[in-house]
Formats: sequence, structure tokens, C-alpha cells
Amino acid sequence: MNIILFGPQGSGKGTQARLLCEKFGFFYFESGAYLRKIAQDNEEVKNMMKKGILVPDKEMTSYLTAYLDKENLYDDIVFDGFPRTLDQYNFLKVWLTQKGVKIDLGIVLEISEDETLRRLSSRRIDPNSGKIYNLITDKPPADIDINNLIQREDDKPEAIKKRLELYKNQTEPLVGQMKKDTKVVNVNGERPIKEIQEKLIDLIEDFKRNG
Ligand code: AMP
Repeated sequence: MNIILFGPQGSGKGTQARLLCEKFGFFYFESGAYLRKIAQDNEEVKNMMKKGILVPDKEMTSYLTAYLDKENLYDDIVFDGFPRTLDQYNFLKVWLTQKGVKIDLGIVLEISEDETLRRLSSRRIDPNSGKIYNLITDKPPADIDINNLIQREDDKPEAIKKRLELYKNQTEPLVGQMKKDTKVVNVNGERPIKEIQEKLIDLIEDFKRNG
């Protein structure tokens, strides 16, 4: 089954996606992480990401399909960060249908704007291990010097505002459309990680039993 995780930045999509992949053996496709790799040799993509603006739909969908075609991977995927616009959604729906599969379930992790700002402005990355910490909710262990951790350019206030605006204007309308096509469930993302995980496991097991 293919699942799309929605939710504003900082809503915990990455954390929940990883837990679901461990539990069910799904493949995790995280568009932001994939684009960060592409940005290493692509100045244009790097600049768009730094400013928090979206990579154009055509370019984004061609990155996605090139990657999934190369891996021969079309099913049992948790999508995080893609689709993000109505055009990307319509594209994915048709493309997966051509591959003989579909989008089976949408999950929206809901958090308030204040919570997004609070979580993202305290997010830090360890440049050595790539591990992500949160100075408030998921502190690094004592042997890690906080001063050596870095903040993503697009986790700075101006870029966060831009990214939230895009989520409201571009992604929310697509979720509205998807609700007409497929089952989409809204989940309160401000509850403890474990509680949310249990809710998502129930949803997926129910889908696997009853379709
Ligand atoms: P994220 O880590 O998901 O917040 O993504 C980081 C950045 O990557 C975004 O601010 C966009 O610049 C770019 N990006 C990620 N996913 C997409 C997408 N589906 N379409 C266009 N741009 C994207």
C-alpha cells in the first residue's frame, strides 16, 4: 500500500514515517532529503531550498520518477513532502495507476502555526552524523556539544514563514482534492510520539484487513 503523509513543517512526519517503515517494512521517500542530495551539485535547487520556495512541479516530478524507476519501486512507499501541489498530486495519481498501483491512504498530522515555529526554530543537525535533534523536545546526549550543531538555512524564521505559507496555499487544497478520491485521516500531531504512532499503526492494520 502507498501512504502519503501530510502536515506542516515540524509536524513529525519524518519521525512517524521512520517508525512506520520499521514496523511494516515500507520504503521511506522524503522529498526534502532527496533534494538536499541533488542540491549538493545543483546551485539552482540549493538556492530554492535555502529560500524555502518550491522546486517547479515538472522538475520535481522528473526527479521523483527517475529515482523510483531506477529503484523499480512503486508500492509500499511512505511519501513525505511529495506531493506538495495539486499538479504533483494529479501527476502521481496517474503515474502510479500506470504502474498498476495507487495511492491508498493519506494521513494529515495537524499542529498549530505556533507549534511549527517553536519546533523548527529549535531543530538542530549534527554535521558529523546527520542526526537531527530538537533543543526542546529531543535534546542531544551530554557528550554532544550544542555549539557544534547547525541549523538548516530554511529553519530560520523568514524561510519558515514562507514554507508555512506554501503549505497553506498549495498543499492544503491538494489534501482537499485527495479527500474526494481516497481515504484521508486527520491526526492531532501535538500528542506524544508514541500515541500518534499507535493511532497510525491501527489505521494501517485496519486498511490491510478491510481495504
Ligand atoms: P522539507 O524538508 O520537506 O521541508 O523540504 C525542504 C525544501 O525542499 C522545500 O522548502 C522545497 O524547497 C523543496 N521541496 C521538498 N519537497 C518538494 C516538492 N514536493 N516540490 C517542490 N519542492 C520541494
